[in-house]
Amino acid sequence: MASSVQPVVAKTNGGPAPKAAVSAGVMQAVGKTAQTGVQRPAVSAGMGMDSQAVRAAMVRKLQAQGLAHPAVLAALGAVERHRFVDSALANQAYEDTSLPIGLGQTISKPNVVARMLELMCEGRTEKLGRVLEIGTGCGYQAALLSHLSREVYSIERLRGLHERARENLRRFRLSNLHLLFGDGMVGYAQGAPYAAIIAAAGGNAIPQAWIDQLAVGGRLVAPAMTESGHQNLVVIDKTVTGVVRTVFEAVLFVPLKSGVE
Ligand code: SAH
Repeated sequence: MASSVQPVVAKTNGGPAPKAAVSAGVMQAVGKTAQTGVQRPAVSAGMGMDSQAVRAAMVRKLQAQGLAHPAVLAALGAVERHRFVDSALANQAYEDTSLPIGLGQTISKPNVVARMLELMCEGRTEKLGRVLEIGTGCGYQAALLSHLSREVYSIERLRGLHERARENLRRFRLSNLHLLFGDGMVGYAQGAPYAAIIAAAGGNAIPQAWIDQLAVGGRLVAPAMTESGHQNLVVIDKTVTGVVRTVFEAVLFVPLKSGVE
């Protein structure tokens, strides 16, 4: 039964090298980069140094859009987003656009990632404690989370993406990041309680398990269907007296699904 699948913890540092690269069939065919005549920043997956200035420009754009949390901006300036997408898409990695990461999934645009992380870190100047991410995808947001918290558990239900993320993340040697393969709908009780839970996939409702696994004083940020009939960003704060739910702007995330594939 899908829901009984136990997540398998995979650390991103150390460990044996993968036997083979992710099979070609796992990654979706990569769309062509349109030749629009617009000058694109020079970013090459093989040349990380080039990307520093491009990332700084992305951060300045995010600041101009109103994003302001220093630690979130620092993380966005530090993590090489182009390492998480197919090399054919690397030159779009710092544009404010979502990108395909294979198996029909997408990495959210930087603006949305930053927005969610700001909501997660709101009012906090110190690193968060333990954080749970639902939907590792390519591992980009997990890397950002590892800068913002002391311990990160990130769970993915698609084995191909779980493995892909592990490969993407290996070079960064983030010893506080633990990748899990399993159904994130049930959370990850072994790591609970969490200072924050963040989901990159949206369902009809927020699973009760996530709220149960949130620490008192903790915050959950997730896309979910709301009374409006749309998917919105929803924040749930767990307090001593109960949970407080706040609905933010409409968003469009990939669906939260149960079971593993
Ligand atoms: N944060 C990711 C975004 C990936 S898109 C990144 O930076 O790349 C959302 C991901 O959520 C997809 O990979 C999808 O497979 C995954 N997902 C959907 N439902 C899930 C579930 N129940 N448990 C774990 N992952 C899930």
